[in-house]
Amino acid sequence: MEYYTSEKISDRVIRITDFLKNCCYLVIGEKRAVLLDTLDGFGNIRQFAETLTDKPLFVILTHGHIDHGAGCWYFDEVWMNRKDMALFQEHCSLEFRKERYRKDPATRAIPDSDYALMYEGEINDIADGQRFDLGNLTVRMIAVPGHTQGMMVPLIEEERMIIFGDACGVGVLLTGENSSCVSEYRKSLQRLKTFEQEYDTILRNHGTFCSPKELLDNVLECCDDILAGKNRDQIVHSHGIDFHIAKPVDDKENRLDGKQGNIKYTLDKAH
Ligand SMILES: [Zn+2]
Repeated sequence: MEYYTSEKISDRVIRITDFLKNCCYLVIGEKRAVLLDTLDGFGNIRQFAETLTDKPLFVILTHGHIDHGAGCWYFDEVWMNRKDMALFQEHCSLEFRKERYRKDPATRAIPDSDYALMYEGEINDIADGQRFDLGNLTVRMIAVPGHTQGMMVPLIEEERMIIFGDACGVGVLLTGENSSCVSEYRKSLQRLKTFEQEYDTILRNHGTFCSPKELLDNVLECCDDILAGKNRDQIVHSHGIDFHIAKPVDDKENRLDGKQGNIKYTLDKAH
């Protein structure tokens, strides 16, 4: 089975999309290339990435969730904010993945031999603001705790691109012990806003994969709405959980006002 396809975003940035319609990004400098996230761990994403570049490859994970970290088993050098270590060890374990994917009709039939194993090498910690020099191309990692405590956003400096990923998007999930409350998350977004002059393009990992620059302000407004107790009667069901949602949506979770940016949260986070 072919698990991956690719699409050029620029000469140095390539989107890799898996068959579940999640994506990650390959960023290629003159000296080396980095894979920003490794998707769900089906097939061999390293082999696929090596068809796109001949530069030495390493991995940075934006956070520890299953659909971002599971494929890193194929690599020798992996970086992640270690605040997500416990989450990574749970989500990217083979047992957790099999348990989840064997329940899902889209993935039920995938044979054991196509599952990446659990990564057991060193995970190098990433400091807030740390720069990775790829050779005339720099990726800077910005901490945006909220969706998870170790959540980081890569800023591809010379390309003026930023990957908001799960940190800020059309349905940011705030739930469970790994997510912040809305007021803490709001502080992270306000800090992210201080980088606004350094990028022109916002990329994401799910759904439409890109957003207009107003996305950040729209999600900040969602925080304000939740903290003001607005729209509390709206419930959407996803990931097996009933979520409240900040802005009214249709049955495909598109905002009724046509704008992008939303937060799905459980009530324990609404402060
Ligand atoms: Zn996530």
